[in-house]
Amino acid sequence: MRDYKHVLLAVDYSEQGFYAAEKAEFLAKKYQAKLSIIHVLDNIPMPDTNYGTLIPLDQDSSYDLLEAEKAKLIHLGDQLNVGLDNRWMLWGVPKQEIIHIAEQEQVDLIVVGSHGRHGLALLLGSTANGVLHYAKCDVLAIRLPDE
Ligand code: AMP
Repeated sequence: MRDYKHVLLAVDYSEQGFYAAEKAEFLAKKYQAKLSIIHVLDNIPMPDTNYGTLIPLDQDSSYDLLEAEKAKLIHLGDQLNVGLDNRWMLWGVPKQEIIHIAEQEQVDLIVVGSHGRHGLALLLGSTANGVLHYAKCDVLAIRLPDE
């Protein structure tokens, strides 16, 4: 078996998510792999313009939410020693964007929590399930305790 070279941790900032973060950090260290993190914005309204995705500077509430999400990513990235270029925040459907970045960045292991904000009643949440189905690389779903 070959060592992993690039681990991508998908985070939704749910309370139990740090279990997955700890495992991803551990595995990246063990394999001396690059560690990246991704958070997909799926709960902040995306402005609809002809010029693509713009930050909604004129919408106070969205702007505040966006700043809060950025702060969380910076905080977690610093905690896990993730390089600035390896912190991803995108708008979209989480499973699609996670897979998109994994392919673009040649990730060979995606780490997700077994469930998060969309899967509290399920063994595997919808994002975890979607990533598992469509990813071309290995996916590790960390069993998170119920909140
Ligand atoms: P879910 O399938 O939504 O219950 O969440 C399962 C796992 O998918 C979470 O523990 C995260 O690892 C990942 N995930 C869910 N939503 C997002 C998101 N918006 N951005 C990045 N990762 C996510």
